[in-house]
Amino acid sequence: MNQPCVIYDSARACGPSPDRRPRTRYISQQLRQMLDAALELLFPPRCAGCQRVDTVWCEECQCLLDALPFPERQVGVRGHLAAFASSGDHEGLLRKALLALKYENTPQLAGPLGARLATLVEGLQWEADFLVPVPLHPARERERGYNQTQLIGQSLAQKIAVPLADDALYRTSNTRAQVGLTRQQRKDNVSKAFVARTDQVQGRDLLLVDDVYTTGATLGECALVLAEAGARSVFGLTLTQAVSPANHGGGTTEWM
Ligand SMILES: [Zn+2]
Repeated sequence: MNQPCVIYDSARACGPSPDRRPRTRYISQQLRQMLDAALELLFPPRCAGCQRVDTVWCEECQCLLDALPFPERQVGVRGHLAAFASSGDHEGLLRKALLALKYENTPQLAGPLGARLATLVEGLQWEADFLVPVPLHPARERERGYNQTQLIGQSLAQKIAVPLADDALYRTSNTRAQVGLTRQQRKDNVSKAFVARTDQVQGRDLLLVDDVYTTGATLGECALVLAEAGARSVFGLTLTQAVSPANHGGGTTEWM
């Protein structure tokens, strides 16, 4: 059933051969393109911000995003982080764009979101040798097709010309999603979930990037692991920060 030659050459014996593979690949690419075109006709892309048809992110929403101020109160030392900043509250347009990137298979949104972080970082004057995105467990990444934080990190790295060290930190356990957990449960959930590569982080100043700051459990654990591996300093940066009771001493969060 999966023998590729059956599609276009049923008269010949089946089985992959070196001279058939390129043609098979070409045909499957054509089929994929046709399927994509048909799906786009049936289900046209919609803007993540305003639901306008035919684009995943429209110019008007980009203008609104550009006009959104950065919250100064979110900058400061937190736990193992030398400093922390977020580009906005986890609500409205930012939240819509991030959720679409995360759950609606729209990796294109990493571009404008990374650009927003770049504008924020340029005003902070942090010095970093490498940018480190918070990793997903490989199984979760396979399921989603990409790591949204890594894509945002790639976009940011290009714009601020700081190299991305996307394998400096990796996830060893596939923890459950943090949604709906209390502060302590979140902390326990990510405890010992990450490992840092000492040769990549020792003596370095690092800019750790994540999508959302809720209780700080994930960023805090990553910063601890990076510090234990010899990082000189770790700055924390997220696209959004939840405004919830969880940031003020307890409770659950339903923000995601
Ligand atoms: Zn829009």
